[in-house]
Amino acid sequence: MEIVRTVIELRSWSRERRSIYNGGQGAAVGLVPTMGALHAGHAALIRTAAASCSAVAVSIFVNPAQFGPHEDYARYPRSFEADCALAEAEGADLVFAPSVEEMYPDGAATFVDVAELSERLDGASRPGHFRGVATVVAKLLIAAEPDFAFFGQKDAAQVAVLRRMVADLRFATEIIVCNIVRDPDGLALSSRNSYLSPAERAQALTLSRAVRHVESLVAQGERRARVLIASAREVFAAAPDVRIDYIAIVNWATLEPVETAVPGALFAVAAWVGKTRLIDNTVVQ
Ligand code: AMP
Repeated sequence: MEIVRTVIELRSWSRERRSIYNGGQGAAVGLVPTMGALHAGHAALIRTAAASCSAVAVSIFVNPAQFGPHEDYARYPRSFEADCALAEAEGADLVFAPSVEEMYPDGAATFVDVAELSERLDGASRPGHFRGVATVVAKLLIAAEPDFAFFGQKDAAQVAVLRRMVADLRFATEIIVCNIVRDPDGLALSSRNSYLSPAERAQALTLSRAVRHVESLVAQGERRARVLIASAREVFAAAPDVRIDYIAIVNWATLEPVETAVPGALFAVAAWVGKTRLIDNTVVQ
């Protein structure tokens, strides 16, 4: 597995792989964008990419532009060596690990703003977050020119923002969304789970409990969004130390609230457990 640090190297790798493996016919470079601190959720994305693409690049870049001034950019977990080992074991052919200067050259002034969508859900409580995400993913897509890019449903609002961006800017990349990978007790895997004390980790299970509760109500036929949200709030009431950021049922494409949880609607929660902000969701079946 190769490790490269510059956009030029990534692009020439991608172009070379495409021509070698497909005789110039197209379609087989996959990109898995990450911020490192890789866990089984990332591993599943890389595995899915490797199963469907003949060449897979994993990017590892803790993107300063998507962190607010008081967020955890400086202390975000970094484990480059272990990440490379995991990426290689799951079938990656290349790791792209650029410096901040490589992604944001001196004087960088160009940003991608997906209007309105970027202010909803996580965007409402993290101003500027999705602008940073859209900007870095656009740069990665331009650099890697992948046929497919793989993202987790775990960050469902991010998926909506990126789908909009890819459609609007006519990127020649198809977005593939992979299921949420969870610990056996239900907690959605996240690099930020490493911040949790054992007591906080127990509290953090409230999010997946609320998700499961809503799934079971939907399975019983309940479709009224306000009823589903109210019962999710009751699950949180049992964990007074967990502070709800939002509980919402939205159209997954627009992130606007819906009154009825129709199939394809997104039930999403975000909550603070101590100083750690966690998210979870489910798509209505
Ligand atoms: P991150 O490194 O947190 O930026 O995540 C990189 C990619 O991995 C994003 O597309 C995430 O949605 C995805 N991801 C993170 N956690 C999980 C998980 N538990 N299950 C599936 N995908 C995940």
